[in-house]
Amino acid sequence: MISIIIPFYNEVGNIELLYRLLQETLNSFDEGYEVIFVDDGSKDGSFEVAKNIALSNNAIKLIQLRRNYGQTAALQAGIEKSIGEIIIPMDADLQNDPSDIQALIKKLREGFDVVSGWRKDRKDGFVRTLLSRVANWVISRISGLNLHDHGCSLKAYRRENFEGLRLYGEIHRFIPLLIYWNGASITEIIITHHERHSGKSKYNLMRTFKVILDMITHNFMSNYYTKPNYVFGAFGLLSGFLSILTFCIVSYRVLILKSLEATPMVFLWILFSIASMLFFLMGLLAEMLTRIYFDSEERKPYRIRETVNVEQTEEKNTI
Ligand code: UDP
Ligand code: MG
Repeated sequence: MISIIIPFYNEVGNIELLYRLLQETLNSFDEGYEVIFVDDGSKDGSFEVAKNIALSNNAIKLIQLRRNYGQTAALQAGIEKSIGEIIIPMDADLQNDPSDIQALIKKLREGFDVVSGWRKDRKDGFVRTLLSRVANWVISRISGLNLHDHGCSLKAYRRENFEGLRLYGEIHRFIPLLIYWNGASITEIIITHHERHSGKSKYNLMRTFKVILDMITHNFMSNYYTKPNYVFGAFGLLSGFLSILTFCIVSYRVLILKSLEATPMVFLWILFSIASMLFFLMGLLAEMLTRIYFDSEERKPYRIRETVNVEQTEEKNTI
C-alpha cells in the first residue's frame, strides 16, 4: 500500500486540479493506495474543497489541524495517520507532478530506503534557484549526503525509516538526512517541476539561511548528541591555547621589554581565558543534560535494524 501525503495551507485554487491529476496516475496503479490531505489551518476555503473530494472518494483522507503549525507538523500528522508501507509526501501547489510517483516507487523497490526527487529544471525564479544551489552544496558538504536537491518535497520513503523519528521545527527537508544518519541508503531521480499553479509561495528567501542554520544544528545533534563536550571542549581548548599564547606575549612585554602599557593583547588574554573557562563549563552542562536525557529508560542512543533470536522490545527513539 502506498500513502501519499499532501499538506496544504491556503491552496484553494489547486486542490481540485491536483486531485484530478492524481486520479489519472492512481487509476493506473495495481496496488492499494491512500491519499492523505492535511489542512494546515487554511483560511481560504481549501478545507471545504478537500472535504467534498474526501466525501466522494474513500481512498482520500483528510485531516484538519486546528491552526497553521507549518509544513513539518502537517506532514507528521499525515504520516502518523497513514498505513501504507511506502510514504510519499507531495506539495499541493502542483509544482510536483503526480506522474513521477510511479518512477519513485519503482526506484525504491530496487532496494533503496529513500528516493529523493531532483528538480533538475527548476521553475522557481533565478535568485531562489541560485540560493538553493548554494544551500544544497553546503548541506551536502556538511552532512556527507550528496544530493542535488535536498529541498524537494516529492520523495519516497519506506515506513520503517520513520519509526522513532521525531519531526519538529522545520525539519521536514532533512528527513532523508536523519534517515541517512541512521544508516539508510538514499538515491535521487530527476523529476519534473512546474510553476506554482495558483496562489503564492508560503516561504521567502530568508528560508535558505534558516535551512543552513537548521542543518548545522541537526548535524551537531546527530554527531555529538551523546558527546557534546567534544564540541564545547574543542572550543575550550582552542580558547585556552590562545589565552596561554597571549599570556606569554603579555609577560614577554612586561618582564623582558619592561613595558607596562595596557595593549589590546591584555584584553585578548582576559577574553580568551574567560571564554575558555565558559566553554568548558558549558560542555559539562551539556554532558549533564545528555546524561539526564538518556538515563530515562526508554531513550537509547542507538537504533537497531534487525535482530535474530533476540526479543525486540518496542523502541522509542530520539535524535
Ligand atoms: N504548506 C503547509 N503549511 C505551511 C506552509 C506550506 O502545509 O505553513 C504547504 C503548502 O501549502 C504547499 C507545500 O507546503 O503544499 C509547499 O509550500 P510552498 O509551495 O509554499 O513552498 P515552495 O514550493 O515555494 O518551496
Ligand atoms: Mg510550491
